[in-house]
Amino acid sequence: MQRLIEGVHKFQTDQFGNYQKLFRKLSQEGQNPHTLFITCSDSRVLAELITQSKPGDLFVVKNVGNIIPQSNVTGSTNSTAAAIEFAVETLRVSDIVVCGHSQCGAMAALLGNLPNGQSMPHLREWLKLATPVREIIQSQYAHLSDEAVRINTAGEENVLFGLENLHSYHCVQERLMDGSLRLHGWFFKIATAELFAYDPETKQFLPLGTEK
Ligand SMILES: [Zn+2]
Repeated sequence: MQRLIEGVHKFQTDQFGNYQKLFRKLSQEGQNPHTLFITCSDSRVLAELITQSKPGDLFVVKNVGNIIPQSNVTGSTNSTAAAIEFAVETLRVSDIVVCGHSQCGAMAALLGNLPNGQSMPHLREWLKLATPVREIIQSQYAHLSDEAVRINTAGEENVLFGLENLHSYHCVQERLMDGSLRLHGWFFKIATAELFAYDPETKQFLPLGTEK
């Protein structure tokens, strides 16, 4: 906790001056983020840092494994779905990024052993939402023997699964139809901080900026 408190003091003393005008403007005019950024709760994936975004730029959803449930799959109580609706309908973001990452613990758990018994019942049910990703890895990537590669491949497939599921949201469908919303699948490699983007034409993740 002491580190957090020191960080807050350091921010207020050293950094806030640079942001003072921006925070005042955002407090008066409200937020107008351009992008809904959905990524993993993992402490190594910092949306604002890796995209060099400022306060007010990104509407960020972090959840375990950056899983996007289909709109109807968890009933009406689902914070990720709520954030999607708010960002798309009210904030009118122009882009949605689903960003997976390497060495994802959620993907490792999905491919390995889900928590069982009375231990972590919520985590177990949450990860079950990505069962189709596990099935794809089992059926199409059985040849991958290296576990680290399998986990990263699951991370990429999970991004595609999330993009597909975004289409199940009525608000997303409407804005895709009128051409005012774009969807992007990204993958962040922790060791090198490289970002890759899914290219639908080649069906591959390519270095960001080189995809179509
Ligand atoms: Zn993760």
